[in-house]
Amino acid sequence: MNLELSPQDIEFRDELREVFLGKIPEDVRTRSALGRTTREDIVTTQRILNEHGLAVPHWPVAWGGKDWTPTQSHIYTTELQRAAVPPPLAFNVSMVGPIIAEFGSEEQKKKFLPATANLDIWWSQGFSEPEAGSDLAGLKTTARRDGDDYIVNGQKTWTTLGQYGDWMFLLARTDPEARKQQGISFLLLDLDTPGIERRPIRLIDGGYEVNEFFFDNVRVPAQNLVGAENKGWTYAKFLLGNERNSIAQTGTAQRLFADLVRYAESRHVGVAALADDPDFRSRLYAVKLRLLALEATELRVTGASENGQPSPASSLLKLEGTRALQELSALRLQAAGSDALLVADDESALDPAIPAASALASEHYLNLRKLSIFGGSNEIQRGVIAKTILGL
Ligand SMILES: Cc1cc2nc3c(=O)[nH]c(=O)nc-3n(C[C@H](O)[C@H](O)[C@H](O)COP(=O)(O)OP(=O)(O)OC[C@H]3O[C@@H](n4cnc5c(N)ncnc54)[C@H](O)[C@@H]3O)c2cc1C
Repeated sequence: MNLELSPQDIEFRDELREVFLGKIPEDVRTRSALGRTTREDIVTTQRILNEHGLAVPHWPVAWGGKDWTPTQSHIYTTELQRAAVPPPLAFNVSMVGPIIAEFGSEEQKKKFLPATANLDIWWSQGFSEPEAGSDLAGLKTTARRDGDDYIVNGQKTWTTLGQYGDWMFLLARTDPEARKQQGISFLLLDLDTPGIERRPIRLIDGGYEVNEFFFDNVRVPAQNLVGAENKGWTYAKFLLGNERNSIAQTGTAQRLFADLVRYAESRHVGVAALADDPDFRSRLYAVKLRLLALEATELRVTGASENGQPSPASSLLKLEGTRALQELSALRLQAAGSDALLVADDESALDPAIPAASALASEHYLNLRKLSIFGGSNEIQRGVIAKTILGL
């Protein structure tokens, strides 16, 4: 979709492009486009963005946010994704930062917000457990009050990039007697505290990006409780709405679509370009139509969390955004054909002589299966949409 931007918005967009394309190193953006972003790339990028006041625009102005219009926020997100700039770490900027800014104590805000914006602290999300994913409120990790501390016992799993985590925001049960949503608290945990073990989990694409955490009598100072005890579920719902919005990634899908069109034009089935194959074209442009609808929806419902409640629209964005990304990865796999069987190591992925789009197609396809599981599975989102949007 080509937005009819006002002259002010065009100026705004061009200023952003100057930073995204001019200040973020090109090799960082290339690795990002290939799905090969490193920890250092994420840190470098977030610090450059923060230096330019662009790491946490959605936070309150007092803590580095911008009072942007919904259109400006939309331009920011899509331009960032189109330029393949590694996005600021979602755990920091979309999840724990807004929670601390909204519900944290003054002391917590001063201690954590500037460091969170600048990625001096790398946060991990400790919500899911082996028996508590979709039914998150059934979580069993406990935090028992003992003097000035809580003592945490239990297990978290699927912790994305937890291998780099300095701190974890975690949901733990503080009142085992209460109804399950009412006995949960939101705690901030220094991952250097004794009693914590982390173990890697290898994913279907061969990559290592998720972890398990085990807690054995881990002491957390009570001052690291966010908001009120037993109100953690309220904060978690606020956070999950933000998480779902950030998973939609319309700008990324648009970039992948454009790459795929170019790629399909260069691939041949017999004498004809793959891009002219009627079946391929019809699947390709079906995604394009869905992306247009998604972007229009996004523009209608920007600012999706109201009164601390996630908007049902965030479920729609998550569902449709991830469906589009998964379909694009399936088309890329089809386009690559047997070349997708090439194994892309880190060096060959960056070697212009190797058609990286082919070599990475299968890895990318497998990796993106995660999108319909995390942030609340797509089946769960369908349930939310049925209930809250369709009134079924
Ligand atoms: C790659 C990856 C990264 C992740 N990163 C993190 C992270 O950093 N931090 C974190 O806390 N968690 C993380 N998660 C966990 C993620 O949020 C959960 O996997 C997700 O909520 C699903 O929970 P589950 O795995 O326990 O599956 P289950 O809840 O057991 O679901 C199994 C299947 O049943 C379906 N199902 C369950 N209930 C219903 C229902 N009511 N209606 C219809 N269908 C239903 C689900 O859709 C799914 O297909 C990550 C997961 C993955 C795969």
